Parts: sequence; C-alpha cells; structure tokens
Amino acid sequence: MGTIRIIRGDITKIKVAAIVNAANTTLLGGGGVDGAIHRAAGPELLAACQKLHGCATGEAKITPGFRLPAQFIIHTPGPIWRDGTQSEACLLHNSYRNSLALAAAYNCQTIAFPSLSTGVYRYPLAAAAVIALTTIRDFLAANTVIQTVTMVCFDATTLAAYQQAYQQVVGN
Ligand code: ADP
Repeated sequence: MGTIRIIRGDITKIKVAAIVNAANTTLLGGGGVDGAIHRAAGPELLAACQKLHGCATGEAKITPGFRLPAQFIIHTPGPIWRDGTQSEACLLHNSYRNSLALAAAYNCQTIAFPSLSTGVYRYPLAAAAVIALTTIRDFLAANTVIQTVTMVCFDATTLAAYQQAYQQVVGN
C-alpha cells in the first residue's frame, strides 16, 4: 500500500509526478499557493488553464507542469468555508478524492498536496487535516498506482495540525 508523508516546504519545488493546486473555480490564477504555482510554472500555465473553462468546486482538472519540477499540475477548487452547513466537508473530501483519481488515471506514482482550503478559504485547519488524511488513507487502501502522497505544509502551524491529524487517522 502507498505511504503518506507530511513535510514542511514549498510545493513549487517538489519533484513528484503531480502537484495539486488549491485553485479557484475560474482556474485563472489567484493568491496563495495558486499564485506561487503560476509564477513558478510560467505563462504557459495560464494559457493552458484558459482552455479548461473553469472547474466546479470539488472537481479536478489537469495540465502539464511546464517549468515546474513536477510533470503535471492538478487544479482543484476546494470549498470556501462559510459555517459548516454548506457541504464544506463533502466538497473538501471530493477535492482530495478527485485529485487522487485523476493522478492515478495519468499513472502518477507520486503526488503532493498543499493544505487545500485552509488559507484564504478559511476552512478550520484541524478539521481540514482530518478530512485530507482520511480521504488519502482510504484512497491508498484501494489503489495500485499511487505509491507516495506528500502533504506539503507551508508553515509550522499547518505542519503541526497535519502531524496531529496523522496520529489520529493513520496512527504510529
Ligand atoms: P485556499 O484558497 O484553498 O485556502 P491558499 O493558497 O490561500 O488556498 O492556502 C492554502 C494553503 O497553502 C495554506 O496553508 C498556505 O499557507 C499554503 N501555501 C501557500 N503557498 C504555498 C506553497 N508555495 N507551497 C505549499 N503551500 C503553500
């Protein structure tokens, strides 16, 4: 079965088959990790995204990685947190699951995620980390393509939240 790694770092620097972008529904770039990925991948990325005509929340679309070390970028808009009654948990689960399924369909053995929705979209960090790791754990248990999933945490608070959730969801 595949393994889950949790590290602190910058996802634009990670050499894996696919990195995931915390996109918005336009797929035309934004702030946070989305802006960093567009800057690092180069202007070819925006041109490729323009041809995709957006993406619904919880769905995922793929482009080449262009100037990134990663071969592919999987773009998924996570939910904007409102009050927890707007299907936020289900939509966040869908973003992780659909990104993993798309990576597997493209035969990616390695994939890296940022912490979807916990920046500008304000999803509560501890709850988001549990959903992320539960969805990844369950996907890995049923798939034969993906070998390693790396959660790339940008700051110490995010890293601590994912490490704590890992104890709860995966153990040891
Ligand atoms: P969202 O709109 O889905 O909340 P953000 O980009 O605002 O997305 O934040 C998602 C997470 O990505 C936050 O934890 C933020 O600190 C982190 N982040 C920002 N830049 C990077 C980067 N270069 N690599 C990895 N994570 C990043």
